[in-house]
Amino acid sequence: MTPEERQAILNDIAAQVRVCTRCRLCQGRTNAVPGEGPADAQVMFIGEGPGYQEDRQGRPFVGPAGQLLNQLLLTAGLRRPQVFITNIVKCRPPENREPRPDEVEACREYLDGQIAIIQPRLLCLLGRPATQTLLDPGATMSKMHGRVFERDGLYFMPIYHPAAALHNPNMRAPVEHDFAALGEFLKGRLQQPKARLEQPEGRLF
Ligand code: SF4
Repeated sequence: MTPEERQAILNDIAAQVRVCTRCRLCQGRTNAVPGEGPADAQVMFIGEGPGYQEDRQGRPFVGPAGQLLNQLLLTAGLRRPQVFITNIVKCRPPENREPRPDEVEACREYLDGQIAIIQPRLLCLLGRPATQTLLDPGATMSKMHGRVFERDGLYFMPIYHPAAALHNPNMRAPVEHDFAALGEFLKGRLQQPKARLEQPEGRLF
């Protein structure tokens, strides 16, 4: 599939998301937030859901947590235009509450479609809801953050959500640790053929 064909399918998914009424979250949104980034991104970042600024602008991670994410990406050797950023639900939950299981389930097809088209090397799961949705329903961030897991040929790294560092200064160091671990993992690997990364460090499923 050419990059143009991939981009066309991602655009089609985004168009469906913008008018989606599959779950109750459509009722309170200003804009749905499908996600953004290159169609052939090697790394995807997946958060929990859009916040206030994201809902206003229809773009992911554009509020304070997004500004911090941009800085943290640089520490991991990544620039924002290199990565695809999205969330497990594409519409803002009221008062930024966690998405409910039925909302995550209703929205899952869009995320699965994005992953299938982009075929990233690594999925960075920002926070517990994304980690529980995509990796392990029983996941705890304290045990899994900053480590690489493999499942079905895809690599996953749970990472503390940048918003955690904004809400709790004590979380700044763990968040920075996770992005440093991400940088270490990616070193030299982004130049390898995209089919498969060499065996990662850390626990494997
Ligand atoms: S959160 Fe997802 S499933 Fe729910 S209305 Fe928005 S796009 Fe549709």
